[in-house]
This record gives sequence, structure tokens and C-alpha cells, in this order.
Amino acid sequence: MNILIMGPAGSGKGTMSKFIKDEYMVAHISTGDMLRENVKNETSLGLIAKGYMESGKLVPDELINEMVKERIQQDDCKNGYLMDGFPRTLVQAEAFEEMTNIINKKVDVVIDLKVNIDDLASRITGRRVCKNCGSIYHIVTSPSKVEGVCDVCGSSLVQRKDDTIEQLQVRLAEHKKNTEPVLEYYRKKGLVKEIDASKPTEEVWAQIKQAIETVS
Ligand code: AMP
Repeated sequence: MNILIMGPAGSGKGTMSKFIKDEYMVAHISTGDMLRENVKNETSLGLIAKGYMESGKLVPDELINEMVKERIQQDDCKNGYLMDGFPRTLVQAEAFEEMTNIINKKVDVVIDLKVNIDDLASRITGRRVCKNCGSIYHIVTSPSKVEGVCDVCGSSLVQRKDDTIEQLQVRLAEHKKNTEPVLEYYRKKGLVKEIDASKPTEEVWAQIKQAIETVS
């Protein structure tokens, strides 16, 4: 099963991706996580990406496409993949179509998480992430047992640098400008399943499972 998950910052992509990955045993490929890893390790890609990421802007297509092309050919994708945060532009969508055609791993379904814009601000500013294992918390709706400490691995929780109201505005504008055309591209292929992501977690997950099962 080859799945794309799309939605603006704060729509729950990270949380739902974990559920999908565990249920369908696909490789979870988050371009945001891959880039953050590159920034942390100060690779040449990381050094270029850092500035774009901290200001909420998109990293240039050529860099992202190259990174994904390499990743998608790794062994853990043989069962399928879950792309999270990619493609974010039409150029990326077209490049992805080309690379997945060659390796016979075309997209089966696109999950589009729809959420009310007003809900996003509180989701984003309250989000905390474990800097070691990536587990996601929210200070109000799903706090860790001990404040600032990850329940899973005991490492400290941090707030992402781009999880501020200011950066959210920039990221939403980027989403509207670049990602809406990507959705339209997949809509024309009949692959998009819209999900009401403003509902509680279990309900969102049930909708997603149903959507995936109609195509599998
Ligand atoms: P995310 O974790 O998906 O919200 O991504 C965090 C940041 O990484 C974005 O604001 C962009 O700067 C960058 N990024 C992640 N995925 C992409 C992509 N597909 N194309 C361009 N930039 C990306």
C-alpha cells in the first residue's frame, strides 16, 4: 500500500502517520523529519535547509526530490510507503510520479486531513516533541505524565522552532499556495480521500482506516 498523507501544519499528520505505519507496516517517510535530522547532523543539505525551515519556507524542490528518490528505494519500502509532508509542490508531485513509475510503486491513495484554521493555532503552540524518539504531545490535550519528559523514552520534550503563531501564518500561506495545487493534481486522478481531522483522534483514525480499506 502506497499512501500520501496531506494537511496543513497541526492537522495531525504526525500522529496519524504513526497509526498508519503500525497498522499497515509501511515505511513512514517524513521529509520534515529527514530534514531535521540533516540539520541536527550539520550535513551539507542540513546547512542549506536550516534557514528555509526556521522561517517556515519550503526547501527547494531539487534538494527534496533528490532526498526522496534515494529514500524510496530503500528496502523498508518494499511493503509500501507512507509519505508525510511530500509532495508539497506540483514540481515535487510530477517528479514523484516519475520516480514511482520507474520502481513500480505508484500512489494508491491520498489522505487529505481537513481541519478548521482556528483549531490549528492552539494545536501548534501547545505541541511538544521528544527530541530523542519524536513522540508527540500537547500541553493541554495530551500532556506527558511528567511535564517536559517523554513517557516513552524519558528524554526531554521540546517545542519546535517553527511552532509559533508567526511561523504558522507563513506555513499556512505556503500550504495554500503550493500544496492546494498538489491536491488538485491527485483529485483529478481520483486518489484523494478527505478526512474531517477536527474530530477526536479515534474518530479521525477510524475515518482513515475506512478510506484506506476502500482502496486496498
Ligand atoms: P514539516 O515537519 O512537514 O512541517 O516540515 C517542516 C519544514 O521542513 C517545512 O516548513 C519546510 O521548511 C521543510 N519541508 C518539509 N517537507 C518539505 C517538502 N516536501 N518540500 C519543501 N520543504 C519541506
